[in-house]
Amino acid sequence: MTAILCNLQAVKLAVERAARAVGRGGDEVRLLAVSKTFAPEAVRGAYHAGQLAFGENYLQEALGKIEALRDLPLEWHFIGPIQSNKTRPIAEHFAWVHSVDRLKIAERLSAQRPAGLPPLNVCLEVNVSGEASKSGVAPAELLPLARAVAALPRIRLRGLMAIPAPAADEDAQRAPFAQLRHLLQNLQRQGLQVDTLSMGMSHDFPAAIMEGATIVRVGTAIFGSRNRGETK
Ligand SMILES: *Cc1c(COP(=O)(O)O)cnc(C)c1O
Repeated sequence: MTAILCNLQAVKLAVERAARAVGRGGDEVRLLAVSKTFAPEAVRGAYHAGQLAFGENYLQEALGKIEALRDLPLEWHFIGPIQSNKTRPIAEHFAWVHSVDRLKIAERLSAQRPAGLPPLNVCLEVNVSGEASKSGVAPAELLPLARAVAALPRIRLRGLMAIPAPAADEDAQRAPFAQLRHLLQNLQRQGLQVDTLSMGMSHDFPAAIMEGATIVRVGTAIFGSRNRGETK
């Protein structure tokens, strides 16, 4: 068995176990394999192990990989920071974007989404307490942004994403994930049709699943450490 197949099976088992621990089904959680810095051959290996959805952070790297793998029916998710002058290739080549935190970016993605493709699935990145990266909309500004993004014609607002700072133990990991779940529930109470919580990475996805994650974004636990096997 290849390392990637082995790792994928172990991650899926851990997803199942975390879901069961809180009375959820493992099939309520989608696994997004984060392939940033890994070569197309690694993605191909994961595809042959049954994985279809892949996450990328760096646009140029992602576009090369998408081109190299266009013979496979893969679903690409953009999860990295977005510069406003780089929205067009994102709108053209991805099925999902998890990292929208400004209306201007969403407006450009909507305007640039090709007519022949289904609406672009979008999650709003929220800066929950203790977030490691400085990006993300402040919780207090989320509702007006969500309303404006949901009204855009070529975008389908799906939910929320966050990258909390690393925490010492599972209880501490769960707190910001619970906060993101409460924010999603609030949007639902306001009448927005949102269903997605994109939260949890290699070191904390079980905690995220216990708090309701519907997509976990896992890189290292599938492909190995990023200081080996890098393409850039
Ligand atoms: C790199 C990255 C991941 C995956 O991180 P791992 O720790 O390797 O699982 C998930 N989400 C985002 C936004 C990332 O940048």
